[in-house]
Amino acid sequence: MKNRMNKTSWIGACLGLMLALGAGPAVAVDVKFQPVAEGVYAHIGDMGARTVANEGLNANIGLVVTPAGAVLIDSGATFESARQIHAAVRRVTDQPVRWVINTGGQDHRWLGNGYFKAQGAEIIAHARGEADMRNRGGEHLGALRAALGPLADGTVPTLPMRWLQGSDEKLELGGVQFEFRHRGGAHTPGDVLVWLPQKKVLFSGDVVYVDRLLGVIPVSLTRPWLATFEEIERLAPDILVPGHGRVTTLAVAQAQTRDYLRALRAHMKKAVDDGVDVSAAVRSFPAQPYMGLLNAAELMPGNASRTYLELERE
Ligand SMILES: [Zn+2]
Repeated sequence: MKNRMNKTSWIGACLGLMLALGAGPAVAVDVKFQPVAEGVYAHIGDMGARTVANEGLNANIGLVVTPAGAVLIDSGATFESARQIHAAVRRVTDQPVRWVINTGGQDHRWLGNGYFKAQGAEIIAHARGEADMRNRGGEHLGALRAALGPLADGTVPTLPMRWLQGSDEKLELGGVQFEFRHRGGAHTPGDVLVWLPQKKVLFSGDVVYVDRLLGVIPVSLTRPWLATFEEIERLAPDILVPGHGRVTTLAVAQAQTRDYLRALRAHMKKAVDDGVDVSAAVRSFPAQPYMGLLNAAELMPGNASRTYLELERE
């Protein structure tokens, strides 16, 4: 009598309840920090769209463990995904998260800030990204609510409390040096490189995409983006953790990010100079070398037209 509900239907009922609540372990994003150098880790996020399954966490997240505390590079897209990131940090280290660095103004770089602020972390970003965060935070959150439903609950756009001002900045925690490079923006205006000179590891944020096509969005600027890329070439990292895609090398980043941006700019500059209209210029872009990258078919037309408009303004 008491055990009328068999085990399978009981599990089914639990899953149904958790799905109805929009939360719980059945649908939690799987965050895993893999070692990339001593004390340095990366979570490689999904490369497709923001979904319930990835909780909007379709980007890479970094972790640096020092004797004086842990440093997180990007805080995730939502309060809940930030909680999952924190659980993954705890599986690597007992150190508290002292700093969170936001490498740019895209949702998955900073909308988890509220969670980490409540944990006592200091949140750091480049000052040139502040206006972008203020302008787009609400819009990002609206889009995440539409994609994720209740999984976006609890998320409040929370600005950093410490703004890096210069184009080259340095901080140190527990003997580990962190260097920052800002060259006028890239995918977003506040895009900043995080360089660990002792370990020769670079976290590029959205300056580098591999495996999937990069996105030129309305706030992107391809000219300073390439200038930022030149700085990566100067630093010559042994290990490059891109914003999206697998941990990589400079050569792959050159082929999949730099060369595509150069080709876009060269094609669109010629089109603008020759008086070719935007739709003809978009259609004639030689996209073939990049069509093997994920998301290429969806992103290619928008990337091309936005680059044309940028070249028109230059
Ligand atoms: Zn991104």
